[in-house]
Amino acid sequence: NLFAELGLAPELVQAVADLGYTKPTTVQERAIPYAMEADGDSDRFIDLMVSSQTGSGKTAAFLLPVLHTLLKQQDEQFARERAEYDRLCAEAAAKGEPAPKRTRRKDPTNPRNFKAAVPGALILCPTRELAQQVAHDAIDLVRHCKGLRIANVVGGMPYQLQIAKLQNANLVVATPGRLLDLQRSMQIKLDQVQFLVVDEADRMLDLGFADDLAEINQLTSQRRQTMMFSATFAPRIQQLAMRVMHDNGSSVK
Ligand code: AMP
Repeated sequence: NLFAELGLAPELVQAVADLGYTKPTTVQERAIPYAMEADGDSDRFIDLMVSSQTGSGKTAAFLLPVLHTLLKQQDEQFARERAEYDRLCAEAAAKGEPAPKRTRRKDPTNPRNFKAAVPGALILCPTRELAQQVAHDAIDLVRHCKGLRIANVVGGMPYQLQIAKLQNANLVVATPGRLLDLQRSMQIKLDQVQFLVVDEADRMLDLGFADDLAEINQLTSQRRQTMMFSATFAPRIQQLAMRVMHDNGSSVK
C-alpha cells in the first residue's frame, strides 16, 4: 500500500486500505509529506495553503497527517504514563508495599465529571453538511486508532448532545458560529489546538466568516500548524491566509 510510504502510522494505513484506497491522490501525495514535516530549527510545523477541488481527496489530505500526529502524541503520553506507573510499582516493591492502584479515567458521560473539552486539532468547515461529512470521514479513518475521539460541532443540533460528545475529543470538526458559542460558554477551550485546518476557505469568506476565523485564530495556540484548503487563491483568500498563518505559508498546488 503506497500510503505506508508516506510514513503514516500502520493504524491509518490499515484504515485507508479498508476504505479501498490503493494509492494517494495528487493532493494527498503532495500535501501529506509537508503536513507531517516539522520545521527543523524550531520544531514548529510548516503552514500550508493547498489549492484543491472537492473530489480531489483533500479531506484525507488534511485528516491523515493530523490524525497521524495526534496518534503519535497519544502513544507517547501512554508510554510516559506506563513508565510512571512502573516506577511507582518498583518503589512500592522496594518498600515491601503492595503495587499502587492504576488511576481510572473518569466516565466522561457523567455530568459530575464535566470538564471543558481541550482538543488538539480543529477543522473548520463553512457548512453543517460539509462538517458532518468531514467528521464522518475522520471516524472512518480512526477505526483502528484506540482512544482517538472525534466530535462534530455544528449549528442546529441539540447543545446537550454535542457537549456530551465533546468530552475527551481529540479532534473537533466545527462550523465557526457554533464553535464560538461553545467557547464563550466555556464548554470548549481552544488554547491546546496545535492543528488548525480551514476547509473551503473561499466559501468561508462567501458566507461571511472572516471575523469568526480571525477570532478563532486568536484563541488557538501560537505554536500551531495551520492548513488552508481552497478551490481558488484569489487575493481575498491570500489576505485571510496572512491573518491566520505564521508566515505566508508554503504553497502546495
Ligand atoms: P474529497 O475531495 O475529500 O471530498 O474526496 C472525494 C472522494 O474520494 C471521497 O469519497 C473519498 O472517500 C475518496 N478518496 C479520497 N482519497 C482517496 C484515495 N486515495 N483513493 C480513492 N478514493 C479516495
